[in-house]
Amino acid sequence: MKRKILVATTNPGKIAELSAMLKTDVKWLSLADFDRIAKVKEDGLTFVENACKKAIGYARASGLWTIADDSGLVIDTLEGGPGIESARFCGEKSEDRKLIDHKNIAKVLKLLEGVPTEKRTARFVCCLCLASTDEILIETEGTLEGLIADKPIGQNGFGYDPIFFLPHLNKTVAQLTADEKNAISHRGNAIRKLKPILNKLLETA
Ligand code: IMP
Repeated sequence: MKRKILVATTNPGKIAELSAMLKTDVKWLSLADFDRIAKVKEDGLTFVENACKKAIGYARASGLWTIADDSGLVIDTLEGGPGIESARFCGEKSEDRKLIDHKNIAKVLKLLEGVPTEKRTARFVCCLCLASTDEILIETEGTLEGLIADKPIGQNGFGYDPIFFLPHLNKTVAQLTADEKNAISHRGNAIRKLKPILNKLLETA
């Protein structure tokens, strides 16, 4: 029988992305496949802490190996901010993701007003964690380096993509197609690191 692995998200996009990139012979489940599962608090101080907390918390709640991630934007001149606060940096509580993204971007641009290009260095970070019910099995981290643009450009992607400028491509991430982004992104890089380790584990488990 195929091993079941839970992806600790209700976002169908994330499951599709993981299962497509990992191309592993497992049955992928998401939190939406469980009627009642207690929410695990993301109150860690780092991306890796949050990813591990979620992975082990949901593994224990479901009895399944569980993959969880945490990601965000790290801006050097903001001493690493918004970091683990990336999703709700603007402080707004709305469920309207587009509105939140817009306000988060506006806040970053305001804080970086007058900051010269060479000091606008930043990276997207993604930490992935696979846990069983009693231990962390894999932790990986992927990053994507870039610069914060001085205005939003591009329509694709989500979150901070329109202000994340890639000098080597002369484009923001929001000007890339989904495939172009996956090939270089922090999430793609973290998944590519996880894949061979997961395959080895599956062979021996
Ligand atoms: P989460 O880990 O999926 O909850 O992402 C946290 C937040 O980081 C998101 O809500 C975005 O604001 C930001 N973020 C993470 N990954 C990306 C990305 O690939 N592009 C733009 N923003 C991102």
